Amino acid sequence: MTSHQHPTEKMMFQLTLRRRGISDQAVLRTMEEVPRELFVDEADREGAYRDTALPIACGQTISQPFVVAYMTEQLQLQKKHRVLEIGAGSGYQAAVLSRLAGQVLTIERYRKLADTARARLEKLGCHNVEVMLADGLNLPANIGPFDRIIVTAAMEQLPENLVDRLEVGGILIAPVGPHQGVQTLVRLTRTEAGINRKELVEVRFVPALPGVAREL
Ligand code: SAH
Repeated sequence: MTSHQHPTEKMMFQLTLRRRGISDQAVLRTMEEVPRELFVDEADREGAYRDTALPIACGQTISQPFVVAYMTEQLQLQKKHRVLEIGAGSGYQAAVLSRLAGQVLTIERYRKLADTARARLEKLGCHNVEVMLADGLNLPANIGPFDRIIVTAAMEQLPENLVDRLEVGGILIAPVGPHQGVQTLVRLTRTEAGINRKELVEVRFVPALPGVAREL
């Protein structure tokens, strides 16, 4: 894969992820392979391998690498899985998912972000990802069900209309809590008997807002 970064930076990047507790080898390898510098603004390329969130267009953010790796690890992805992401943003998380899953549908409410993410993913050869302009809080009726669902914007509560799209045996992971401040990363698993809910760690995400954005 293309990479413009200094090798030491990439080594530090891996080390930080391991130190913080990421142990799944496939996830670590994928984090190493996906060039994060291509998903940040040009001005931020230098800092692309620091473990921090960064601003992107439309007032949104690309998530912190540790959080991307952690959420991905929690999903326990297999090549046969169909995955839904709410909040495509830069497309970085979708690129990570695409290497570990079968099919990825990622949804974004800003046209500008959706178009940029789609172009980057195509350029990187992530042909199993579809980027859709839609509202993740009010999903189109014709999509799903999915084996895995990952929400990368803060939801005050999980819409029934979203949880309904999770297959039996499926895992959903989402930041749930107030739009301002700290949310809890919640993992739902659907079994034949119903939904199990587990609270994982505290996180900070930009809010999930209703509707497709009016501006670009
Ligand atoms: N996963 C992204 C980061 C997501 S930031 C990455 O890897 O870069 C959260 C994103 O969710 C923002 O781009 C925001 O516009 C989007 N978003 C917020 N509410 C949404 C909604 N209701 N439907 C779809 N996308 C939404």
